[in-house]
Amino acid sequence: MELKLYDTLSREKRPFEPLDPKRVRMYVCGPTVYDFAHIGNARPVIVFDVLYRLLRHVYGPDRVTYVRNITDVDDKINARAARDFPDLPLNDAIRRVTEKTAQQFHEDVAALGCLPPTVEPRATEFVLPRDDGKTDMVTLIQQLIARGHAYEAGGEVLFDTQSMPDYGKLAGRQLDEQQAGARIAVDAHKKHPTDFVLWKQSSADEPGWKSPWGRGRPGWHIECSAMSAAYLGETFDIHGGGLDLIFPHHENEIAQSRCAHGTPFMANYWMHNGFLQVEGEKMSKSLGNFITINELLTGWQGTNWPGDAVRLCMLRTQYRQPINWTLQGLEESVATLSNWYDGLDKESSQADLPAEVADALADDLNTPQMIAALHGLKRRGDLSGLKSALRFLGFSNNRKALTQTVEVSDDLAVKVDGLIAARTRARQSKNFAESDRIRDELAAMGVVLKDSKEGTTWEMAR
Ligand code: AMP
Ligand code: ZN
Repeated sequence: MELKLYDTLSREKRPFEPLDPKRVRMYVCGPTVYDFAHIGNARPVIVFDVLYRLLRHVYGPDRVTYVRNITDVDDKINARAARDFPDLPLNDAIRRVTEKTAQQFHEDVAALGCLPPTVEPRATEFVLPRDDGKTDMVTLIQQLIARGHAYEAGGEVLFDTQSMPDYGKLAGRQLDEQQAGARIAVDAHKKHPTDFVLWKQSSADEPGWKSPWGRGRPGWHIECSAMSAAYLGETFDIHGGGLDLIFPHHENEIAQSRCAHGTPFMANYWMHNGFLQVEGEKMSKSLGNFITINELLTGWQGTNWPGDAVRLCMLRTQYRQPINWTLQGLEESVATLSNWYDGLDKESSQADLPAEVADALADDLNTPQMIAALHGLKRRGDLSGLKSALRFLGFSNNRKALTQTVEVSDDLAVKVDGLIAARTRARQSKNFAESDRIRDELAAMGVVLKDSKEGTTWEMAR
């Protein structure tokens, strides 16, 4: 079996060779913890979990280090903390939001059959120099300034993109092009519009750390440069995330890491999952088609979907392609699993991983072909091969988990969600008489609405 992975930077599928065969190193950008993870966020978690399992299979479980960070410093977190815990001091409120959200995230992705990564560093623990000497953000920024790749201006420290000849290579963008495009607001203090923030000042009521540049907080990109170096070193094998992270996030991570360490590359393979849409539309709170992982598991469209079915539904599409998330896809996934699980309880799962399953995955995670291979095992009656493959892939093999797919008597929830979507549409078309009428109808049902910038949530009146 030869493992091949598509690399966004070289734009080709290449045989995978670890830099150090005794230690395969992978970094994937993790969640910003301010709200429930949505089903799009589940995609990179599931995709890179499958890759993690495959790497462990090929190189041995002790020889793979998988780092996925938690972003627990971000202006969205601050806003959420102030909104949800107005009576607490901001730092306490922030801790409440990030701890609650991180725990929810862990529960959600565990239910989807994902292994925890080897380490899960939190950004706030890597801002200042550490007792253990692991790479931190302030030291990286100092190195960038010392090497002439960053400058202080307007109370910020900025990365000087013109100091790096091949800045823009990952995304395939030229600096000049970007200047001409000028969609990025030209801040007067920047030397070039693509220069990005490494450090910014915090006001008294924002979270901040004492630094050589005053009390402030890091930009987003520097976090991942610090945490990947802290656990994986200056260069490593695989860096992953969703397509939307290619620019600017990953481009900027590369710029920071290479320029701070003086290395010719950051990661040897850059992998990006495609985007997920819901029933053919971009998922967004204002369209009322925004689905969290938790909602799927506890009641979406009248059903509490088993984690196994969500996982299979995600893997039906190769990771680089866009996914159209549909109710029908979930229903088909439940049916497929109940066919596969039928009769498996008597089988042992001691068989080796069947070669056709491993080979499909080794071809840049060709999961549709892998699913075809699983159907083949079932057809040929190789139930022990099927069982060991499903176990390897993170499925529960638990038939009972599927039969729990009952109609949750959530007619009410479905009705409320429908009315809220109708009210949102009415408000968008400025039909306020209709939106008020729907609000009253919901109130009569005992439903209290809460509107915010992110959309509308509801609860039953107490
Ligand atoms: P965020 O918390 O927005 O930084 O996203 C966390 C991860 O989820 C990143 O790897 C994103 O690229 C990925 N992601 C966000 N939305 C989607 C989506 N609709 N489809 C696929 N991946 C997504
Ligand atoms: Zn990152």
